[in-house]
Amino acid sequence: MTSHLLPTYARVDLAFERGEGVWLIATDGERYLDFTSGVAVNALGHAHPRLVAAITEQAQKLWHVSNLYRIPEGERLAARLCELSFADTVFFCNSGAEAMEGAIKMARKFHAANGQPDRFRIITFEGAFHGRTLATLAAGGNKKYLEGFGPPVEGFDQLPFGDIELVKKAIGPQTAAILIEPVQGEGGVRVVPPSFLRALREVCDAHGLLLVFDEIQTGMGRTGELFAYQRAGVAPDIMAIAKALGSGFPVGAFLGATEAAKGMVPGTHGSTFGGNPLAMSVGNAVLDVMTEPGFFTDVQRKAIGLRQRLAEVVDRYPDIVSEVRGEGLLAGLKAVVPSGELVDALRAEKMITVAAGDNVVRLLPPLIISEDEIAEGVARIDRACARLRRSRAEQKAAQPGAAG
Ligand SMILES: *Cc1c(COP(=O)(O)O)cnc(C)c1O
Repeated sequence: MTSHLLPTYARVDLAFERGEGVWLIATDGERYLDFTSGVAVNALGHAHPRLVAAITEQAQKLWHVSNLYRIPEGERLAARLCELSFADTVFFCNSGAEAMEGAIKMARKFHAANGQPDRFRIITFEGAFHGRTLATLAAGGNKKYLEGFGPPVEGFDQLPFGDIELVKKAIGPQTAAILIEPVQGEGGVRVVPPSFLRALREVCDAHGLLLVFDEIQTGMGRTGELFAYQRAGVAPDIMAIAKALGSGFPVGAFLGATEAAKGMVPGTHGSTFGGNPLAMSVGNAVLDVMTEPGFFTDVQRKAIGLRQRLAEVVDRYPDIVSEVRGEGLLAGLKAVVPSGELVDALRAEKMITVAAGDNVVRLLPPLIISEDEIAEGVARIDRACARLRRSRAEQKAAQPGAAG
């Protein structure tokens, strides 16, 4: 079948028409267990009644007015995000990459406002992913993604992951900030040790640099706290969030402390759609659910259960998977077989997962998943591993010269 969609994705030939909690129902009626959440987006699962009610109510009142006027729902969401984080100020946009662009602009403008406009360079780390716009591609430094799009945006210095001495050496008179994901998501669920984040904070303080966290994937509860930095005990100066902020409604934001944001005066940034009443109502409803007592302790408890069960799978199938990684419900299984084969085998077991770098399969269930559904997910992973073991044994037996 020909498609008129620009073919930038290698899509699976599968479409869904409904979702219920952690389940996706395909157009052929099959039910799939969703351990992807639209890539860390649907934190509250599919068709959450509170979100459906919030968007329905707002849709009947007002969708969009532009940022020429006050938007009370947005003022409320910004106040709540600041109350719950290090930040004092929030800009709402529509995606992760846009949030990162804003965070980069804020970091550069801070130094310009201090009379040092030449300080614009940002230190980033190998394996990072910050988005697909021109600046965020340069920040991520993935050569495959940059290829053919002209000279990369200037001003990003990429270093190997985790070596603080290299960071100190890389700082020059033009360095403005250090940018890092507290857990690299796309890069392979690589958890940054809290000691490294603390060391980055010290280096930033010593050199007058801003510390910028990309919490687009880790933020909004994914790691078992509202923000991953809260578990690490290190606060940034600027932070980008998106994915789960709208739990399926497209919305992003960058947040700053007062001092870090001081360059962003009227006229320095804007967005037509950013923070419209529809998006803001959904964002507030997401926070209503996440801030209920016990929400995060529940996520943490379920995450520990998932980890223990996954460790048993690794013990049973060392020929298929070798390691469990992650933080909270941002889990990764390092595969021994090609990760894509494991994703396919899981889909054959009616379970949806997503591959990441470093041959890892990401497990990102909705945060509202139950213990029973986690057990069901692990049972399916077990069966997928058994399936792969069988097919590999069959392949081997079929090889010319194989015994028997
Ligand atoms: C997904 C992601 C982005 C990009 O978000 P988009 O909404 O796709 O633009 C940036 N950084 C991280 C860490 C992400 O996981």
